[in-house]
Amino acid sequence: MVNSLWSRYFVKIRNPSEIHRNCVDGRSRKQSNTAVYQFPGGDLIFPVVSALASGSTLDYSYILKELKKLVSRNYSICLHRGNHRSVQRNLSDCGFADNLKLVIETLLNKQRDLMKRIDDDLARLILSRLNLEYNPDEYASAVKKLFSSAEKSLSFSKKKITQGEDLIRRLEKDFKGSIVVWDLIGEHKEKAVLLNLSSGTTFDTEKADLDDRQAFNFDLGRFAQMLEEFGLFIEEIKLQVMCAVFLYQAIEIVLVENKGKKSLALEIIY
Ligand SMILES: [Zn+2]
Repeated sequence: MVNSLWSRYFVKIRNPSEIHRNCVDGRSRKQSNTAVYQFPGGDLIFPVVSALASGSTLDYSYILKELKKLVSRNYSICLHRGNHRSVQRNLSDCGFADNLKLVIETLLNKQRDLMKRIDDDLARLILSRLNLEYNPDEYASAVKKLFSSAEKSLSFSKKKITQGEDLIRRLEKDFKGSIVVWDLIGEHKEKAVLLNLSSGTTFDTEKADLDDRQAFNFDLGRFAQMLEEFGLFIEEIKLQVMCAVFLYQAIEIVLVENKGKKSLALEIIY
């Protein structure tokens, strides 16, 4: 592992297919203290990257259709709320679900900035560690394609994006019996943005929170593995993986930097 400061909070996952997922949020869960994989917004990341990478309209029916693919593979849909939830303000307290449109707009508006943060060397490290071959020319054209598809997707979706508490509630209703909505408790005190490239480990949020070492964590290795399980072609996996990494940074901009807080360093774990 690259960063020893955080490595002691990474634990092995024994049975990946049976385990739930949670958001990248660093707060503790009320219902469980077993470490689970972490993706942006939990499983919400799947429909979002798939729409952006393919230039599709990200409306509620698209989200539903994409999440059904997980259920058909025996996964429960995992999302979350938090203790700052406000039904009146349409806030679930999942920063990604509540700011879905803004995060996508930020991804597009900050394209240059994001490309500097995730530069070619870092992209090479990420893709090759995930056993996804990196070729500079191919990567440059894939990223170009990704941003133009994302722009198309946003222009189709602008007035149709369901987000926040409304989105969580509708999904809860439509996936009754096969959905887990975690309740996160406490305050945000994240100190870093971790990107875990290993597919067999995750960040022990509860332990880190107890030690006052909260951090955002995204298990990109497991995310890529799930895309492979879903039968996506390698080029599509690469596109969606990079889209998820850029989105993860856009989330940090919206939830940390836009709130006047100091930007958090991105730490790669493998
Ligand atoms: Zn969240």
